[in-house]
Amino acid sequence: MKRPILIHPDPRLKKVAAPLEDSSDELRKLADDMLETMYDAPGIGLAAPQIGLLQRLIVLDCVKEEGETPRPLVMLNPEVVASSDETSSYEEGCLSIPEQYAEVTRPAEVTVRWMDRDGNACEETFDKLWATCVQHEIDHLEGKLFIDYLSPMRRQMITRKSQKLKRERARR
Ligand SMILES: [Zn+2]
Repeated sequence: MKRPILIHPDPRLKKVAAPLEDSSDELRKLADDMLETMYDAPGIGLAAPQIGLLQRLIVLDCVKEEGETPRPLVMLNPEVVASSDETSSYEEGCLSIPEQYAEVTRPAEVTVRWMDRDGNACEETFDKLWATCVQHEIDHLEGKLFIDYLSPMRRQMITRKSQKLKRERARR
């Protein structure tokens, strides 16, 4: 089942999400809903706060090439345990800030620890787009958006545009 995605500005996007005790059928169902919502958008990542749930759950799949096997990842309580000194920049966007993009610089490689949908402990090092995406999604769990990396002026400009789009959508 698809879930509505919150659009910035929304106070729920600025809150710190709570850790999860364990996986459960309910959480697996929620993760499936989030993946469906993400693929439909379409997007490469989605965090639970973006659908109004303040829980430490993210989903991502950065395989974008036509014909390549999808790799949906579900992460409970994801945590960056190591980051490279080397950085990389990507033009980032966010399903909660539609049609707005900006270059953000982050560590080029990160090692992430998380619990998968079956409750198994996992750890993996990500690079390239995967590294950017996983950091962007984990930021959501801290109430942080990619525009928080930009200058205040740029951030305000994007916020105004997003606010306008949100009002227009609400009127439809
Ligand atoms: Zn986002």
